Amino acid sequence: MVRENLREVQEKLTAAALRAGRKPEDVLLIAVSKTKPIELMMEAYEAGIRDFGENKVQEILRKAPLMPPDVRWHMIGHLQKNKVRFLIGRTVLIHSVDSIALAEQVEKESAKRDAVTDILMEVNVAGEESKWGFRPENALSGAAAIAKLAHVRLRGWMTSAPYTADGESNRPFFRELRQLSEQAAEAGLLAEFDRNYPVPVLSMGMSCDYEAAVLEGATMIRVGTEIFGERG
Ligand SMILES: *Cc1c(COP(=O)(O)O)cnc(C)c1O
Repeated sequence: MVRENLREVQEKLTAAALRAGRKPEDVLLIAVSKTKPIELMMEAYEAGIRDFGENKVQEILRKAPLMPPDVRWHMIGHLQKNKVRFLIGRTVLIHSVDSIALAEQVEKESAKRDAVTDILMEVNVAGEESKWGFRPENALSGAAAIAKLAHVRLRGWMTSAPYTADGESNRPFFRELRQLSEQAAEAGLLAEFDRNYPVPVLSMGMSCDYEAAVLEGATMIRVGTEIFGERG
């Protein structure tokens, strides 16, 4: 089941990338496995997935020892400051940095461990009350503050657009995030590029809208339901 679902997602991802004149391999598929059991995650692993997204620190800590060591864990959910210390060194990327105070906590805990932590800034481009994230008008000044932190590397941007039955309707939000990213890059606010992050990260697109996100330049998409089925 998971294998077939993955094939379908990868086909749609590839088609959207080609339509946009992009290379499919420039878009990383993150399998969002929150609430899902290890058995299903292993099916995804065996089909080639190495990047898994979770929205709770406890779930990453519980699952990590049960999965192969080359799994890359992405923290995609709202992160409380008092949980940051458990996460340092355990994730490849924290997508959900939604305040300067949180970035400062990541700085503090990373410095203690002599680590440098890669992060994205979450921006609430759609302005939904229920969502976390910087307001777009505060994103660049926030990035300027975060860029000064020595143990935090700002790699790019993340957003969650509204749930929609028609992904196309979210394209303006994805476009806005891309434009913000371009402005930040021009202002020199993003970390130096390296092999793992050759371009600024744009983490956008979920089950309902990842094709639209790829058309607008997503470099990471976060797909749960379309791979693992509905969550209970
Ligand atoms: C749950 C979640 C996803 C995946 O959502 P699906 O609709 O199941 O694909 C992506 N991003 C974030 C931040 C999430 O919390």
